[in-house]
Amino acid sequence: MAICAIGSQKSLEVKKNIVVGLVDADLLDNGTRHPNLVILKLAGYFRDHHISYELIFGDSVDIERYDRIYLSKVFTFTNLPSFIVDYKRRNPRTWSRKIQEGGTGFYATEEDRDVFNEKRKEDMSRLNNDPLLPNFSMAHQMPDYNEYNQYIDYVVSLKVEEDSKAYLKNYNIYPDADFLNASRTKHRKKYKDYLDYSIGFLTRGCIRQCPFCVNKGERGIHPYSNLEDFVDKSRPFIYLWDDNFLCYKNWKELLQKLIDTGKPFQFRQGLDERVIDEERAKMLSKAHYHGDFIFAFDQWKDRDLIVRKLRIWKTYCPSKTTKFYLFCGYELTADNDTKIFEDVYYLFRRIQILMSFGCLGYVMRHADYQNHRLGNIYTQIARWCNQPQFYKKMSFEEFILRNQSYQEEHSSSTKTCKSLSTYTAFKETFFDRWNEIEPLFQMKYESTIDESLWRNNNE
Ligand code: SF4
Repeated sequence: MAICAIGSQKSLEVKKNIVVGLVDADLLDNGTRHPNLVILKLAGYFRDHHISYELIFGDSVDIERYDRIYLSKVFTFTNLPSFIVDYKRRNPRTWSRKIQEGGTGFYATEEDRDVFNEKRKEDMSRLNNDPLLPNFSMAHQMPDYNEYNQYIDYVVSLKVEEDSKAYLKNYNIYPDADFLNASRTKHRKKYKDYLDYSIGFLTRGCIRQCPFCVNKGERGIHPYSNLEDFVDKSRPFIYLWDDNFLCYKNWKELLQKLIDTGKPFQFRQGLDERVIDEERAKMLSKAHYHGDFIFAFDQWKDRDLIVRKLRIWKTYCPSKTTKFYLFCGYELTADNDTKIFEDVYYLFRRIQILMSFGCLGYVMRHADYQNHRLGNIYTQIARWCNQPQFYKKMSFEEFILRNQSYQEEHSSSTKTCKSLSTYTAFKETFFDRWNEIEPLFQMKYESTIDESLWRNNNE
């Protein structure tokens, strides 16, 4: 993409004669499903203070036209945009006068606990202490949800153009307005999280201190934004990004306020199943919930508790889809074969429990999975597990074999497909333990689900 930045919100009355550029580094590298909340809040602040600002996208950017640039990065694997890298290289001593960087992408994988804590603290307070942003409050600033609109229009228009060209080539006539509208609607759907949702945190922090989490240094849960700080009346849905809402002492009061908005809402970060009780299960399951209920089942050691809580949850919520994030691949090293076998084994044992309760799994891989030569097995498991049409219809082994047969039917390649070659390498490496894991790889949802696990609770 070779375009310059396009301003989205033009200041009505510029109090300060500066132009601010906003950079969502994750968007520019790999693209993300959600907008960056820091970028939205900064945009809201500049809008409210009549300061010119714009979202920067594209590679050919005249960085000199900005007095200040705020860059946010959520993922550690995200690369910084080339225009930022170039500017830093040309101005090694002074770049930080213009560019302010922040976000978990700059420290989430820091292993030294003290260094991590320091970076986290600094990152969480940087904007509140920025002299260019007097009275800025990350918690209470209303976002400018329109900040990505021009980016979305631009990307969608490129896609519609592609569809039009394909149509012209196939039918030798130009597409009509209905075709163009349908194409536009289809491509805009990809950005529904940018267009349809109010996003925020009612609480922040956690009590669990899981070593792999950015909240590992937190000791408690505190209130953060109010609903009126981030709920836009014109947006139909609400996303909550709270770290551990159900463990917060005033969860009930906040949940009632959410219900009272009348808007469907969803907690996106994985609710803590371990604290589910009759009261939480009843209130949550009766709420006007948007999409799937999402919990987390990160560690095998929690299995007994998870099973006990699932019995309660499924009693109150027997039919709406319940999904669990399944964390895996953490601290995997290049040469530790035992660890990868056991990690995969216990990942499937967790899936087995979820299947027995009629729940979906969603594999979340820590970046360490790539360290091992057999790490691609996690990619294959995620391709199967994270897509309900595969997870519910076929075993993992059937999925692998289907990849190979699909390739044979749809291409002239005589090679073994990546899925099967990965599976075969895993099998050859662990042939002496294959009888332990093979039944799990052959496990099927329809024969594992056992409704008596929760239906009996009603009797
Ligand atoms: S329970 Fe969730 S939010 Fe809390 S520390 Fe563990 S992974 Fe992080």
